[in-house]
Amino acid sequence: MTWSSDDESVATVNDGVVTAHSAGNATITVTTGDGNRTAACVVTVTHGSLTHTPGNAATCTENGNVEYWTCETCGTHFSDAGGSTQTTPAQTVIPASGHSYGEPVWSWSEDGKNCTVTFICANDKTHRATPEVTITSEVKTAASCTEKGVTEYTATAEFDGTTYTDTKDVADIPVTDHHYENGRCSVCGAIDSGFEPVITAGGGGTWQKGSRNGLSFTSNAAFADFVKVQVDGRDLAASGYEVRESSTIVTLHASYLETLPVGDHTLAIVSDTGTATTKFTIQAAPAAEDNTQPLQTVQTGDNSNIALWIVLLLASAGIFGITVYRKRKKQ
Ligand SMILES: [Zn+2]
Ligand SMILES: [Zn+2]
Ligand SMILES: [Zn+2]
Repeated sequence: MTWSSDDESVATVNDGVVTAHSAGNATITVTTGDGNRTAACVVTVTHGSLTHTPGNAATCTENGNVEYWTCETCGTHFSDAGGSTQTTPAQTVIPASGHSYGEPVWSWSEDGKNCTVTFICANDKTHRATPEVTITSEVKTAASCTEKGVTEYTATAEFDGTTYTDTKDVADIPVTDHHYENGRCSVCGAIDSGFEPVITAGGGGTWQKGSRNGLSFTSNAAFADFVKVQVDGRDLAASGYEVRESSTIVTLHASYLETLPVGDHTLAIVSDTGTATTKFTIQAAPAAEDNTQPLQTVQTGDNSNIALWIVLLLASAGIFGITVYRKRKKQ
């Protein structure tokens, strides 16, 4: 007798022993040696018990799967517990999602010298990426003598093929020194606290009453800082002097000088940046009778000249006395 199966993928037969291979129907036929007689029966192969594999969600980095059932006999996968719908291992896979990083979060040190960047995964906040950060800097605003300059620090990070940057401004450039000229900064206008104006010309001058020209004094304080003039500690009315630019030149008017008593006086040129002081001397007018010496040529303040004037005055008085005497004698 010979045995045969019409679908050996479902079942095979050997000397009447049928072996199941996969679910399905197969017709097993037996034939006598002479071929005159046959018998057949239909064999239905069913799957063995099904093992359940529960669903497993995918993570950012690992695949997950949908639930499925596996035949213990043939290993076929089913998507239902009843084993009616076949599936494949590939079809049960839920691919890993990959991270879902959001915007970079930058963290700067106060001085701008250090910075880190963190990308946080939206799927799982414990997934963090901290790519290397490089920092460059450049001057954004130069320092002045009153305000610090500003440095702009730029942090750069490469992540997932994209370049990210962030900037931070830090006022860390020290203020510059003032550019003092004549007691005041030419840049910001600040007054130099160490500046002490002095009389650079005209100090210790002498003026003789009767002179037509005034008496000039020069302070090295800036003209723009001029405040007032003081003589002997008292403010001088504007009518008593004039002031000209080119540092500060104060000329006391002759009309004012005439009002001062003969002798030494102090002069103060008061400026915003300080006060320059000096002395000057008022000398008495020459005797009216004397016309041998032009007033302007007399350099008073020189003791020998004062002595000369006294001599001339006495001499003049002497001549007058003699004249009177002679007149009286004639009478
Ligand atoms: Zn099976
Ligand atoms: Zn993630
Ligand atoms: Zn300044």
